[in-house]
Order: sequence, then C-alpha cells, then structure tokens
Amino acid sequence: MAAQRLVILGAGFAGSYVAHYLGRAAGRLRVTLVDPHNYTLYTPLLPEAASGTVEPRHVVVPVRQMARRAELVLGRATAVDQSARTVHVQPVAGEPLLLDYDQLVVALGAVPRTAPVPGLLEHASGFKTIAEAIHLRNHVLQQLELASIAGDADERRRLLTFVFVGGGYAGVEAMAELEDLVHDAGRYYPGLRDVPRRWLLVDVAERILPELGGPLGAYATRQLERRGIELRLATQLAAADGRSVTLSDGERIPCATLVWTAGVRPHPLVGALGLPVDDRSRIVVDEYLRVPGRPGVWALGDAAAVPNAATPGSVDPPTCQHALRQARRLARNIDAGVRGRPLRPYRYRMLGQAATLGRHKGVAIVLGVRLRGWIGWWFTRTYHLYQLPLLSRKLRVVSDWTVGLFFPRDLAELGTLGSPEPLEPPAAVPARRSRAPRTGRPSSRGIADE
Ligand SMILES: Cc1cc2nc3c(=O)[nH]c(=O)nc-3n(C[C@H](O)[C@H](O)[C@H](O)COP(=O)(O)OP(=O)(O)OC[C@H]3O[C@@H](n4cnc5c(N)ncnc54)[C@H](O)[C@@H]3O)c2cc1C
Repeated sequence: MAAQRLVILGAGFAGSYVAHYLGRAAGRLRVTLVDPHNYTLYTPLLPEAASGTVEPRHVVVPVRQMARRAELVLGRATAVDQSARTVHVQPVAGEPLLLDYDQLVVALGAVPRTAPVPGLLEHASGFKTIAEAIHLRNHVLQQLELASIAGDADERRRLLTFVFVGGGYAGVEAMAELEDLVHDAGRYYPGLRDVPRRWLLVDVAERILPELGGPLGAYATRQLERRGIELRLATQLAAADGRSVTLSDGERIPCATLVWTAGVRPHPLVGALGLPVDDRSRIVVDEYLRVPGRPGVWALGDAAAVPNAATPGSVDPPTCQHALRQARRLARNIDAGVRGRPLRPYRYRMLGQAATLGRHKGVAIVLGVRLRGWIGWWFTRTYHLYQLPLLSRKLRVVSDWTVGLFFPRDLAELGTLGSPEPLEPPAAVPARRSRAPRTGRPSSRGIADE
C-alpha cells in the first residue's frame, strides 16, 4: 500500500512534535512540514534569551533534527483547497507551490492579540518570536547607551523608563528578566548611577499571573514591587506616541520602551481556511483532535480549541505542555487511523505551572504543591530543561547557565545583527597616467617591476 501524504501547517511546538512522533510511522505516511522557519522556538526560555542568561540560538531547535523523517518546505501556507486536497505555499524564495495531501494537520499557532489603541502598532514591540526577543534585548541595551550620553536629565529618565502591557507569564517573565539585565549592567554605566530606572507593568485585570492562583500570584506581586516595579492593575494602555504612553487613568508617562504581551489570538490564516471555529476564532476539534465534518483534517495547539477528557467542559489553555501532549495523541490517532485501529480520546492532567521572576526567584505549582523563592526558580529552570527538545540543546542551555554563575552577563548590543551594511561601491579608478620609465626600483611588495 502506498504511503499516505500528510501535510502539517506550522512547525512550531505542536506541529514539529506531531512530525517527530510520526517518525515511527514513516513507511505508512509521508510527512511534510510547512513553515517559514527551519526551527522550533522553545518560548518558555525566550525571556532568558532576551536577558542574555541563555544564548538565543540555544532556545531554538532545528526542525530537521527534531523530525528527521519528515520533509520540510520552507515557506508560508497561503490557502487550502479542501475539495482538491491541496495546500498553496509561498516558499521563502521562488514560485508558489502546490502540495497534495491525504491528511492535513493545522498547527499554525497564534499571534499577539492587539487592541485598537492609538499608536500601538507603530510604537510597541511584541514578545513572541526569537527576532522580537533579540530586538528587545538590543533596544534595552541601546537605551542605556543613549542615556549615558544624553545631556538632559528628563531625557535620561525617559530613556530608562520601560513599560510592559500584559501581566501573564510572557509579560511578567520578560519584564523580570530584562529588569535583571539592566540592574546587572548598571555597574558598567557609572554616569547613570543616580538616574532612576522605572519599570511599569500594566494590566486590565486586578492581579498578575491569574493562572497561578491567590498565594503565589500575591508572592509574585510582592517580589516585583520590592524590586521597584510599578504594577498598574485594573488599568489599560490608552495611547502611545513613541516618546510616551498614556494610561486609561489619564497619566502620561514619558518612556522609550513599550512592550505588548497582552494575550494571543489564532493565526489569521485559520479564519481563511473555512474550518469551523469557536467564539475566540479557534478551530473546533473533537476529542480525537479531528475537525468535525472535514475528513482527514486535524488541528491542535494555540490555533485550536481542544477538549480534554481530564477537564470536562473546558478546552486546553494555550501552553507548550498542552501542545506537546496533544501532538502525541494526535500522532497516535493518525497512525491508528491509517492502520485501521480505533482512535483514543485526548486526555491530559496538567502537572503544574511555573514562572521565573528573575534574581533567582520563581513561583511554581507542582502536583498541587506550591513552590516559591529560590526553590520555585530552581524548579522552573529544571522543568524547562526537561521539556526542551534534543539532548544537544539541553546541554547547551546548561552550559550557558553554568557560565552565567561565574561570569558577568554579556552586554554587547548587536542591533545590526542580520542587517549588515551593504558592500561599498568600487573605489574610483584613478585616471590613467602614461607609463613611467622603468627604474628597476622595488615595488611596494618588495618585488621589482618587470
Ligand atoms: C514569551 C512566551 C512565553 C511562553 N512561556 C510558556 C511557558 O513557560 N510554558 C508553556 O507551556 N507555554 C508557554 N508559552 C506558550 C507556548 O509558546 C505556546 O502555547 C506554544 O508555542 C503553542 O504551540 P503551537 O505549535 O500551537 O504554536 P507555535 O509554537 O507558535 O507554532 C506555530 C508555527 O506556525 C508557523 N507559521 C506561522 N504562519 C505560517 C504559515 N502561513 N504557514 C506555515 N507555518 C506558519 C510559525 O512559524 C510557527 O513555527 C509561551 C509563549 C510565549 C510567547
């Protein structure tokens, strides 16, 4: 029997794990991944990549190493023709491609959920991709450099004011890690010793990290406030103009950094696929992760509303740990279907949650036990290490952490990384002179002219 063709849209956490698990079904299925990148980003370590405690390259995992038996098409899916069973792909270079499929997995993930705030799109950075993490790191380091040469005291204060919007895991961890970076960098900027740094975390909710529950959320709040981070809760960003932000209570805050981490929504292509979606635009799937009424189509991860037999009545939250378990079940169900075996419903009971707060502090809930402080931080790091795919990546991250114990942080601002200066045009050719008579004197290379 010829192998069935399976196309996976998105080689993020969910898609790459589906391909990885289907490696065992290589003879029965020909798996093709479509993604504009050839790596999977391990987002839980993104805040550490931004602050420099982990080398950014070490928090991405090459897809070709993770899913060795799958083909990778480097490009963006642009449309799916469900009646012809084809995917339209725009490769990163070259002509558009058409990929045929027998089965399709949609794992397109999510994008930041922005709000209609004047100036937001023009002046805020996101924090979801490795490019954004590196950009933010460079930007923050650049503000220190600019502040160190700014003549005006108000301008120095503005350059060292950092505003984050969104008090979930991404916002809290990113802010805590970057505050650490600026704190540690301070000793190399003696001229800025007396300039106050201001860090503000804005959220429309009444508390930060609501997923962690009362006591741990309260602990995280105390830790951040003790470090001087201003929490502006029950408050919204009202406007941004590139030199300041205005909050919903009317306060205008001069600042040079605005980071938006206020939630996600499914990838925009999801809405154009013609699949059933729920009220939050996530693809509806049944307990086997199949899209109802669309034979051969499956979905998972942040782009889907996945029912979980272990938590009846609610769908999974958008996290790596859920995407990973969904991927394992989905891969097994696809393989079972190909082999004519019964499918099994998806069931996963979450083991815990964890977040780092910088400065060797963290919070975690493991099997109902609450951990905080140093032990919470240690558990969070250990858990991420365990979850990070590939032994080689784990070892690289451990070596980064070990080096970080003994040496100061790297403060190089590599803002031009990835956009090198263009080549210089050829030097003007001097006007030709008539040949000088031969003298037999040595040339500049010490070799006598012929
Ligand atoms: C800063 C941050 C920190 C986080 N921390 C944690 C944490 O500590 N623990 C946790 O469990 N979860 C965490 N998460 C959530 C976690 O990252 C997501 O739940 C997880 O990545 C979802 O996996 P996914 O495959 O659905 O989406 P993604 O991993 O986002 O993958 C989607 C993929 O689709 C690709 N794609 C996009 N457009 C196209 C296209 N047109 N064609 C083809 N491919 C396309 C993208 O390149 C990407 O590779 C964090 C998220 C962020 C942003």
